[in-house]
Amino acid sequence: MNGNDLKSIYKDLGISENVLNASEEVLDTLKGRFAAIDENAELCQLKVLRAFQKNNVNESCLIGTTGYGYNDIGRDTLEKVYADYFGTEDCLVRPQITCGTHALALALMSNLRPGDELLSAVGKPYDTLEEVIGIRESKGSLAEYGITYAQAELSEDGTPDLDNIRNAINDRTRLVTIQRSKGYQTRPSLSVAQIGEIIKTVKNVREDIICMVDNCYGEFVEPLEPSNAGADMVVGSLIKNPGGGLAQTGGYIAGTSKCIENASYRLTAPGLGREVGPSLEAISRLYQGFFMGPVITASAIKNAIFAAALFEKYGFESYPSSKEDRHDIIQAITFGKPEGLIAFCEGIQAAAPVDSSFAPEPWDMPGYDSKVIMAAGAFISGSSIELSADGPLREPYTAYFQGGLTLPHGKFGIIKAFQSLVDKGLILC
Ligand SMILES: *Cc1c(COP(=O)(O)O)cnc(C)c1O
Repeated sequence: MNGNDLKSIYKDLGISENVLNASEEVLDTLKGRFAAIDENAELCQLKVLRAFQKNNVNESCLIGTTGYGYNDIGRDTLEKVYADYFGTEDCLVRPQITCGTHALALALMSNLRPGDELLSAVGKPYDTLEEVIGIRESKGSLAEYGITYAQAELSEDGTPDLDNIRNAINDRTRLVTIQRSKGYQTRPSLSVAQIGEIIKTVKNVREDIICMVDNCYGEFVEPLEPSNAGADMVVGSLIKNPGGGLAQTGGYIAGTSKCIENASYRLTAPGLGREVGPSLEAISRLYQGFFMGPVITASAIKNAIFAAALFEKYGFESYPSSKEDRHDIIQAITFGKPEGLIAFCEGIQAAAPVDSSFAPEPWDMPGYDSKVIMAAGAFISGSSIELSADGPLREPYTAYFQGGLTLPHGKFGIIKAFQSLVDKGLILC
């Protein structure tokens, strides 16, 4: 141990002086962008606070219920808070919704019936949805229930192709799914304005087609949410942005009364619906996490931009680039070979507050069709609003980096990942 000044601590944590100086140089160029992100965080924070106050969140809301969870005022009030923030008629927010995929599956299965067709407006959906839909054969998929699937391909530059979308709609099209974030793909994530254009296009063909947005990683990134641009349902995970790093599990579906009512009867049972489902001891963290969400998300966006700028400077392709507008918190960095991807993930793992002594190994993760490497030393298992990186072990060996609950920790994680590539001789610095 060398002392408690910043340079000594970085050195203790394995960062060389060259790497630290190179990183600080890049950070100095980003101050203007960071200020704009703070402005958006302020706006989103006040929108959340307004929703809390409008719904009279009080101490008794934070206690939680057990058993059936009848008359759970905390749960019911939180759902109103979410609905107000998203500008929707209704919402389900529950620890019984186990993850983002579950929330999406629930929204789809409860609002589609045999004979209906589901259309993805933006090409291939997120990996885990392939099994929900039945693109890859799987037990209990929509395909097993006679719900068919169609896909409107993106245009060549990866943006939505409105003609393709119009042409893909037929008499059986019942629901259109729109994925805001790129997920494990190298296409641009969608802005809320672009999502609004897609929805307008769909509704012009037929007003009664349900437009659902996979909102994972997008919450609080822009001043408006897709539900403010006409989406009938927005769906996401609480171990991403809206859980603020505090929610231990859960998902949400915000949307029209009709869509949410359908979802509630599928979530529990026909006849029971939303009346059951105890909020347990989870509820206080769901409130506090939603309250913290805007600022935590702002840290994550800043970390993403810093990572992009640093690795770009050393010749790696980052996506989006450090100069582009942000529509989600995911930063893709392409290494072109497995060693780079693995070294990056090892660095992120080594920077973690929990499990920093473990090395991540590529594994066959359920729901994904190639091996995936994941770095996460998180307080909440699998939480990707916490500092984390992952990527499928396939060409072009892209790491998807996200999160970081605090700015100093995000900064350190990125520097540590950079150092890991330097140590392996993959970067000269
Ligand atoms: C994370 C994510 C999901 C759902 O993932 P879970 O791991 O099941 O929470 C779905 N779509 C996108 C775009 C995502 O980023």
